[in-house]
Amino acid sequence: MTDTAIRLADYLAPSHLIESVALTFRLAPEATLVLSTIRFTPNKARPGSHDLRLDGENLTLIEAAIDGVPVTAEPDETGLTLPWADLPEGPFTFTAEVEISPATNTALEGLYMSNGMYCTQCEAEGFRKITFYPDRPDVMAPFRVRIESDMPVLLSNGNETATGPGWAEWTDPWPKPAYLFALVAGDLIAHSAGFTTMSGRPVALNIWVRPGDEGRCAYAMDSLIRSMRWDEQTYGREYDLDVFNIVAVDDFNMGAMENKGLNIFNSKYVLALPETATDDDFARIEAIIAHEYFHNWTGNRITCRDWFQLCLKEGLTVFRDQQFSGDMRSHAVKRIEDVLTLRARQFREDGGPLAHPVRPEEYVEINNFYTATVYEKGAEVIGMLKRLVGDDGYARALDLYFQRHDGEAATIEDWLKVFEDATGRDLAQFKRWYSEAGTPRLKATEDWADGVWTLHLEQVTPPTPGQPLKHPKVIPVALGLLNGNGDEVLPTTVLEMTEAKQSFRFDKLATRPIPSILRGFSAPVILERATSPEERAFLLAHDTDPFNKWEAGRALAKDLLARMVTDNASPGPDWLDALARVATDDSLDPAFRALALRLPGEDDMAQTLHASGITPDPARIHAARRQMADALARRLQPELAGLIDSLAEPGPFTPEARAAGRRALRLAALALVTRTDGGLRAAEAFRSANNMTEEVGALACLLDIGRGQSELDTFESRWGKDRLVMDKWFSLQILYAAPEATAETTRRLTDHPAFDWKNPNRFRSVLGALSGNHAGFHHASGDSYRLLADWLIRLDPLNPQTAARMSTAFETWARYDADRQALIQTELDRVLAAPGLSRDLAEMAERMRR
Ligand SMILES: [Zn+2]
Repeated sequence: MTDTAIRLADYLAPSHLIESVALTFRLAPEATLVLSTIRFTPNKARPGSHDLRLDGENLTLIEAAIDGVPVTAEPDETGLTLPWADLPEGPFTFTAEVEISPATNTALEGLYMSNGMYCTQCEAEGFRKITFYPDRPDVMAPFRVRIESDMPVLLSNGNETATGPGWAEWTDPWPKPAYLFALVAGDLIAHSAGFTTMSGRPVALNIWVRPGDEGRCAYAMDSLIRSMRWDEQTYGREYDLDVFNIVAVDDFNMGAMENKGLNIFNSKYVLALPETATDDDFARIEAIIAHEYFHNWTGNRITCRDWFQLCLKEGLTVFRDQQFSGDMRSHAVKRIEDVLTLRARQFREDGGPLAHPVRPEEYVEINNFYTATVYEKGAEVIGMLKRLVGDDGYARALDLYFQRHDGEAATIEDWLKVFEDATGRDLAQFKRWYSEAGTPRLKATEDWADGVWTLHLEQVTPPTPGQPLKHPKVIPVALGLLNGNGDEVLPTTVLEMTEAKQSFRFDKLATRPIPSILRGFSAPVILERATSPEERAFLLAHDTDPFNKWEAGRALAKDLLARMVTDNASPGPDWLDALARVATDDSLDPAFRALALRLPGEDDMAQTLHASGITPDPARIHAARRQMADALARRLQPELAGLIDSLAEPGPFTPEARAAGRRALRLAALALVTRTDGGLRAAEAFRSANNMTEEVGALACLLDIGRGQSELDTFESRWGKDRLVMDKWFSLQILYAAPEATAETTRRLTDHPAFDWKNPNRFRSVLGALSGNHAGFHHASGDSYRLLADWLIRLDPLNPQTAARMSTAFETWARYDADRQALIQTELDRVLAAPGLSRDLAEMAERMRR
């Protein structure tokens, strides 16, 4: 594997730059002609006599020429080399005609077809499946694109500059790398609106969907308009073309793609009506529309020099979309949700065989590095940077970043340099967050004597693959101190930890304070501190920092659940009473109360137990968690009915955060009631639901207690024709299946006529749900492991990217007992032995197997 690895250290500037690109597409499903005219110029930054290497895969070359002289060189498996001897000394024009087959492109990279429409996905290296080109992000060029097709709607990047019967021409004046190229042709209909930018430029906004779906775009459009306004107000960034197009596509490997002026979306993140989309769907649509729009500046205008710098655009853009969602909704709730995701996905990745730095230093297949570490930890690193330099310093640095690097392909070094120049701060040590993998553990102990309270902190980062030794990082630790009455004696203060061990003194205190450490989750670390349940309950009741208030309740629940698993403890009043007080405290945001009522997930518990040296038993965790929910349901029983009734929304459905928070709390209460009333109220809620949030929420409550078969049938007959809604029907049955029935339920659903396994959303809704059911996936029989491996082997030849991504279900093998480890290793070996295994899946399986 190492022999094919690509390394950051080997980076070389391109031998040639591109002045302009003109492309003509004559679309036909199995024989599309791509004509390219590319104006090259030798790169002065890389003097010498260099061949010109063009990337190209699965292309039939019909003819090529340099300044009209036919090219005699033959393409190989991955491209075409134009020897230096054949290249003119100065600028020259390369022309080529190639043939490709979109209809048989099942990998969904390059130009492919989805439900009769043509579309593209070029990030990271899909453009090389369209034509011969230096397919690397540091080669930027303006594109002119002509599309010839009888499809009614023909779209590409930039502005439409000419059109006629059966053709259209698009011009993108902004230089861009090939990964931002996009083309769409299909029978589409637009939901349109307009926007005027802060300097007065009118912009036409269109969301293109299949006929019949145009009524489901209003929320996405509203999110887009709010995103455009927010980026002007918050970052001073304005949109720069006359039109902004979004297209919804049913077959898509990722969430969405930020192609310049022509974003392409998985239809799941565009289409929404109250009857078909849940509150979570609405929130994700808002966040992803914003994310892709924000890329116009952080990603497109300033792009990445090479794919090792992926976090430069992704970490920053995730950070920006998190800020936006916080502004639109609730910062406290958003922060808690983001940390839940970070711990569930990134901490898990960071603690296993797939751990890698935010900026990796080598890869075999770059598609395998679109990870939680690059995205979510990448965003946390920027959050820390902002905490360290302050809001003003951050704003100055960002202004400088846009001013200095607009139109360039930049690096993490460039990014940190603008912060150093704008704030005068030395970031050499901070940079370790980009180069070292692993989640630091922050151990906290305290002393108290004579009115002086001292906090001792120690940081240790465990070894990760390829990085046995770690160095101390800069960790911003937000701290507040409370007295015994719950009054704040020290408001939130950011301590800067730079050493392996460090102490911080606080004097003139009247009584021993109760510390609230790592407020707002000020750094992506695991805080270890011996705390009594009483102190946790005190913080849950009194902490003024909403994140740490929630965290105190979470820690109480996790401590208890761990004792239930290891010592057969049972839920006592300290946790039950504390949680009951939060659940019924009307002064608190319902969304926050709903999050407080959510029990720790089973995978999260397995991770926590493993980290404290205990081999997790998935069956015991599952049983203990259910026992915990039962105890909570009994304790809260007198309050629940009232809570459910008081939270009913009187008016028509609105997806906004306040109403969504009330529904979340109502459903949390319904889930508890269901544990004591046999599903009576949930069945009633299912029948009377007028929105998808409550319909699937009530159905989940029923499935969780082993009921709901007739409701499942009703749901299927009601929504059988709606692909996105049916994805929920598939996954719910698996997520809530009993551990011993999970593999069988999954197998039965893969036999369902609507299980279209070539559609990534449907595949994920079934096989992703299988690995999402922790106790079912890790059932001692190994059935689920085998089933998943069977499907990965089957999917890989068609869609290696999705197969590789879903193989991460196996990344946690080292946590479990020897029997489960052996079962997983057997499956990984079977995957590795599959004939014709893709580079994508091979790399993942090898990294996990080592
Ligand atoms: Zn992105």
